[in-house]
Order: sequence, then structure tokens, then C-alpha cells
Amino acid sequence: MDPSAKRSRRGLLIVLSSPSGAGKTTISRMLLGADRQVSMSISATTRPMRPGEADNVDYNFVDDARFDAMIEAGEFVEWATVFGSRYGTPKAPVKQALKEGRDILFDIDWQGARQLEPDFGEHLVTIFLLPPSMTELERRLRARGTDSDTVIADRMHRAADEISHWAEYEYVMVNDDMDACLDRVRSIVAAERSKRTSQPGLVGFVRDLIGPQH
Ligand code: 5GP
Repeated sequence: MDPSAKRSRRGLLIVLSSPSGAGKTTISRMLLGADRQVSMSISATTRPMRPGEADNVDYNFVDDARFDAMIEAGEFVEWATVFGSRYGTPKAPVKQALKEGRDILFDIDWQGARQLEPDFGEHLVTIFLLPPSMTELERRLRARGTDSDTVIADRMHRAADEISHWAEYEYVMVNDDMDACLDRVRSIVAAERSKRTSQPGLVGFVRDLIGPQH
């Protein structure tokens, strides 16, 4: 038996959702920096690029016609309308990662998590980050910059909407400390990788260990 085959495993599709301001982007970056086996899924979106964003890094920024064509061509594993813009997860990198037994991290909302379940349920790990309080969430949103009170009020309303779907997730944590939160996310990933069902290569390994007669 190929000695590396015992390490072959099923790739994980890790969905990290939260309202904006709950620390999802920071935790994602920290996880990617700490764990080389995880790569980020880059979604396509019809929303305009924000200052500081780069095409094909933060998103693949496309117009409506292109997004329609991508849907038509079956290029998405899921897509949804969020705050008036469309967002979709490309299929090809997901298929490739699963073939190679690598993990992918998705910063997508509850609609996306729901759509991945039927096709990818056995690979799916869903994590929801809650803010410590709505006051703290508002403080973080305000600390980001120059948004008007109306924009902040709208974001708070959307945050409450997103949070209302928390019970659809397997793992839920309150993000009151980034490092502690990252530790917990990494523990979840380690535990999911250790599941027997995530390690099909072990069947052959154990057969070699104890012989086929057992
Ligand atoms: P933003 O425009 O602030 O980057 O993202 C807005 C929301 O869209 C976030 O909650 C984010 O998780 C969600 N989102 C980003 N990409 C996708 C995607 O491909 N599919 C779905 N369903 N949601 C996404």
C-alpha cells in the first residue's frame, strides 16, 4: 500500500458565517495564515468593488449579464442575492479541492450554507460567529469608518436578520476574543479531520495493520 494513502482524507468545506462586524474576515485570514491545508473560496459578485478590494482576490467582480451566463453554464455550487447584489460560489475549485482532499473556507451567508447541504453534506462544516452584544457590534461597525447613521442602522438591521439563522449551523461561538475564537475554529477543523468518515484511506491502512482475516 502507498504509505501516504493512509493520510488521504476527505476534504472539508468549511462555511463561516456571521453578520458583518462580528469578526469573520479577521478569523478567516488568521485561519488561512495558520493552516496551509485550507484555501479560501473566491466568490463571483455583481456588487461594485470597494476601496481596498482587488479583483480575483476578494471577489471575482462581474456584471449582471456575466453572472446570468455563469448561472446558465452551471458554474456555481450555490448563489444568492444578498443586500441587493448577487454572490455565487464557483464550482470548479470546490470539485478540485475535494478530489485532492484539501479543505476550502467559504465566507458565505446562510442561504449559501443551506444550498451546499444536499450535494456536499458529508464534507460540510458550518460555523456561525455571534457578536458579544449588539452594542459591541454597532461599536465595531462605527469604528470601521465614515458610515452615516442611516447606513449603520441598515447594517444593524441586516445583522439581526443574519443572526436569526444561527440555529441552522452546527457550530456556534460568541466572538468576544479573536485568538480564543481562532483556537476554537482550529479545534473544530482538527476534530472534523479526525472523524473516521473523513479518513477513507484508513480502511486499507487498518487492513494492512491487522490483516484481512479480522
Ligand atoms: P460583502 O458584500 O460585505 O463582501 O458580503 C456580503 C455578504 O454576502 C456576506 O454575508 C457574505 O458572507 C455573503 N457572501 C459573499 N459571497 C457569497 C457567496 O458566494 N454566496 C453567498 N450565498 N453569500 C456570499
